[in-house]
Amino acid sequence: MTRRRLWRGAVRLRSTLSAAPPTRVAALRQLVAEESPNLFAFAGGGGPSAGGAATSSSGAAALSERAVALAAAAGPVELDAAPLAASLDDRYGRRHTYLRISLTERCSLRCTYCMPADGVSLTDARRLLSAEELLRLAALFVRAGVDKIRLTGGEPTVRPDLAAVVGALDGLRPLGLRQIAMTTNGVALSRLLPSLHAAGLDKLNLSLDTLQRGRFLELTRRDALPKVLRAVDAALALGYTPLKLNCVVMRGVNEHEVDAFAALARARPIDVRFIEFMPFDDNDWSDSKLVPSAELLAALSQRQPGLRRLRTDAHDVARTYSWPGAEGSVSFISSMTEPFCGGCNRLRLTADGSLKVCLFGGSEISLRDAMREGASDAQLLSLVSSALGRKHARHAGLASPHDIARTKNRPMTTIGG
Ligand code: SF4
Repeated sequence: MTRRRLWRGAVRLRSTLSAAPPTRVAALRQLVAEESPNLFAFAGGGGPSAGGAATSSSGAAALSERAVALAAAAGPVELDAAPLAASLDDRYGRRHTYLRISLTERCSLRCTYCMPADGVSLTDARRLLSAEELLRLAALFVRAGVDKIRLTGGEPTVRPDLAAVVGALDGLRPLGLRQIAMTTNGVALSRLLPSLHAAGLDKLNLSLDTLQRGRFLELTRRDALPKVLRAVDAALALGYTPLKLNCVVMRGVNEHEVDAFAALARARPIDVRFIEFMPFDDNDWSDSKLVPSAELLAALSQRQPGLRRLRTDAHDVARTYSWPGAEGSVSFISSMTEPFCGGCNRLRLTADGSLKVCLFGGSEISLRDAMREGASDAQLLSLVSSALGRKHARHAGLASPHDIARTKNRPMTTIGG
């Protein structure tokens, strides 16, 4: 990295820190200091002519692209609070207040039901949203009524500027954002979580389909279960409770681990969410692998009596149960057998800037292209409104899981779940 580039990074860092909300300055300073001590020292050293080891050519060369991306992505978001004409309601009266943003198509695992062993073909980096584009869209959606953003992937923790993105989203709270959540496979989480927590991450879901190391290796093609379990401990220690564990139940694969997961939910403040296996491109779905939630609940109630239904939010996709005296709970997400589309409040933004108004719909609109062609915020929102106007009542208008399986859609890993 050249000294000029280093200096530009330092200038952006200084401006970021001076514009950040006061409650986040310390966290951002710590974050950048940890991520790139050289850049941090340089930013405090007064510019390109400052001396010392941190500004030597070898120090400059050691600086990563990551540090500059980090400083850039944490840049101040312009909080334009002007009222917007279009709304995020659809023709069924559903108000869309929840935006899921896929930060990357990459993943650190290779789950057999999600992608082939050699991965999926990735979009050219120039066609992915830049951090600035992503934050512009996030701010626009929040101004239009979104109050919850979930970061997904691929695997969001493989993105180098993740903590900076969380920090920048945290700056949207004055516009109405109430919650920043993330779904992760947990592999890199225990190392990153303190920074993410400091940057403003409120809620966490971990995907975990097995508690057995050998099966984890078989399912994900990586021997990473100990790291994920360390992440569970780290999340609980930092107060992410109840911690949601997402478990996709597949017949003949992990259905017999339901009791082990239930034991975890009884012993710790964890909500284990049993999710029905859903069809996506390249995931080898068949209805013989689908374990209906009703079947699972009946079997679990018989083996572990005393389950009681808990009250949950109207938009919650899960039905949640617990036992008297249990620390946590178990939930059932019956996307296939008992769809919950009537209360759907979800929008999805893919890493390449496409908006999906339904998880199962193949149709998308590219907000990236519109932005790069110069669309104003009002024009972008009008595109979103039109797409919502075409949203179907249920499952993108597809009648059965087989129709969903036959419909061309993205692989799960590039939608973000
Ligand atoms: S299937 Fe589509 S409409 Fe139904 S809950 Fe999921 S995203 Fe919403």
